[in-house]
Amino acid sequence: MNDLQASDVRPRDKMVVATAALCGCFGCHMSLLDIDERILQLVELIEFDRTPLTDIKTVGKCDIGLIEGGVANADNVEVLREFRNNCEILVAIGACAVNGGVPAMRNQFDLKECLEEVYIHGIGVENPQVPNDVEIPLLLDMVHPIHEVVRVDYFMPGCPPTADTIWKFLTDIIAGNEINFPYSLIHYD
Ligand code: SF4
Repeated sequence: MNDLQASDVRPRDKMVVATAALCGCFGCHMSLLDIDERILQLVELIEFDRTPLTDIKTVGKCDIGLIEGGVANADNVEVLREFRNNCEILVAIGACAVNGGVPAMRNQFDLKECLEEVYIHGIGVENPQVPNDVEIPLLLDMVHPIHEVVRVDYFMPGCPPTADTIWKFLTDIIAGNEINFPYSLIHYD
């Protein structure tokens, strides 16, 4: 466990942080919560804006935006662009945001083929039909890593990045330190 304490960090001001999940599994957010009791130190250092943790639905002006998940539908594009426009520093957190990850496995198939496999031919499907409701965000043909849609400042690999990696990143960036992970935080063997 990283033994850095909130009192070791000298924030310029209380930074504002927002997070969002695009096409992912929320595992990266779960990893953020895995910092356990350090969340109490974190809220001394930052203020949360839009995030599933606050349930705020739109993002305001922020210092740091953490994005989990790939870009798979029109809603993901809108949220991502809103984050880019409002966050000074945008961070791709986890494999799905960095390179498309697991959701991008569908890229090797035609979208129609994917939809039919799930909603028409899937095991246990009753009343087979592909959903078609205006409330459902339009799927993109392919799942994209977020840097293919907007400019990204930092990439944090891992599926998910560990809680200690996220903690080190946040405390370093809040303190104005150069981001420099020790090997122990960025090896995946
Ligand atoms: Fe889930 Fe892994 Fe994608 Fe994070 S990187 S959203 S943990 S699948």
